[in-house]
Amino acid sequence: MGMRLIPGILLRCNGLTGIDSASTEWNRQSGEQSPLYFLAGGAYNTAMKTVAFETVGCRLNQYETEQIAAQFAKYGFRRVEFDEPADLYIVNTCTVTGRADASCRNIISRAARHEKNPPVVVIGCYVDAEPDKVAQLNGVDLVIKNSDKVKVLNILQEKFPHLFEEDRDIPQIEAITEFHLHNRAWIKIGDGCNQHCTYCVIPLVRGRLHNRAPEDITREINTLSQNGYNEVVLTGIHIGQYTYGDIESPAKLVRFILEKSDIVRIRLSSIEPQEVTAELIEAIIDGGRRVCRHLHIPLQSGSDRILKIMRRPYNVQRYREIVGQVKDRVPHVVIGADIIVGFPGETDDDFQQSVVAADSGLLDYLHVFSYSDRPGTDASRLSGKVNPDTIKNRNAVLRAISGKHYAEALKREVGEIAYVISEHRAESDNHYWGITDNYLKVKLPADVGGGKAVLAIRMESASERYLAGRMI
Ligand code: SF4
Repeated sequence: MGMRLIPGILLRCNGLTGIDSASTEWNRQSGEQSPLYFLAGGAYNTAMKTVAFETVGCRLNQYETEQIAAQFAKYGFRRVEFDEPADLYIVNTCTVTGRADASCRNIISRAARHEKNPPVVVIGCYVDAEPDKVAQLNGVDLVIKNSDKVKVLNILQEKFPHLFEEDRDIPQIEAITEFHLHNRAWIKIGDGCNQHCTYCVIPLVRGRLHNRAPEDITREINTLSQNGYNEVVLTGIHIGQYTYGDIESPAKLVRFILEKSDIVRIRLSSIEPQEVTAELIEAIIDGGRRVCRHLHIPLQSGSDRILKIMRRPYNVQRYREIVGQVKDRVPHVVIGADIIVGFPGETDDDFQQSVVAADSGLLDYLHVFSYSDRPGTDASRLSGKVNPDTIKNRNAVLRAISGKHYAEALKREVGEIAYVISEHRAESDNHYWGITDNYLKVKLPADVGGGKAVLAIRMESASERYLAGRMI
């Protein structure tokens, strides 16, 4: 098949050349509403129907990949792994940090190396952030924005008709029934965010907050439960602001799901500190072991000065009070936090305040992010950028603190019975990894078999990185 021109914004595939910022800016301002397609020439094999997916980034992105994959499966495509030959490669991208962008580029170049030159389609947040740049990456045939994810198959049918049967209808995008290569499933409860923290590009690429109907959520959870899943993770960009009809808070959604579904346990994904309310803590307690004793509550900085510039709506003292309340009320709860190092203007003193907060004993693990400018954000225009070596050193300091507190959290559980779900794949011939309801890693013997069952394990020992025990 030769080069075909596609309606929308046509771009030139000229390898890894970058694009100037004026052009990127033009696209952000003018290209928001219309689908953005790019198609290059290529020789496609028309004999097979296989599709391979790779996802970068958050659980929401992973959920959306599964949703698209379910639609492909209904149409009749066979899903293969990304390193296998396929008729179509789809890369669902993330742009939350510069590192995420680099991972996406790496995966795209892997897909482009497949010798039969199948179409490589790039979707998701990196496309929304820098459409021209992504479209011009070597091997990219088509880019599709987040707002068009629900009609990926329709767009592909139009652009690559040789992959689709002429007289067959495209199924609707709908609920997922399984989560590929996972024993736990993520469930989308909402999308978008209205908060606009100054460093964050997500509201620019995901749009304003919109939530999903609770009945749809529970229907999907019940299907997954019938298919053997025992844990679902409630996922979104800003889940703490969940509200839909009479279900006016995440706490009410938790209670609704527990009442209307038979899922064994639910886990909340990352939730903003100001949204960890007394009502939510009560819902977690009332849920008993059906609500995982685990919260991930982003802190981002231990310096009130930096939090203010980040436009975070709390101070460190308030954060400590909230986390302290959860710890007091929910025995054995594990709490993690995101912290950014090297935000513009972060001084040694600001960083020391992050060290103090991280080392306070309230937090059991940290996800430490090295600040990188995200195009279009307010923070990217701030002066006082921190030296990359300083950022690297600060990152290492906080990671060491995280490791220390995680090891302490593991030790606390020795002697306890934990309910563990194993990972899908064995790590080696002699073990699987598993995860407790309170998000601690457990080394499991290979004979657990990697299924979705909840395993009761009495913890007998803890290393610095994981627990080990005996099945009871
Ligand atoms: S709450 Fe802040 S960090 Fe989280 S997605 Fe919204 S803008 Fe980004």
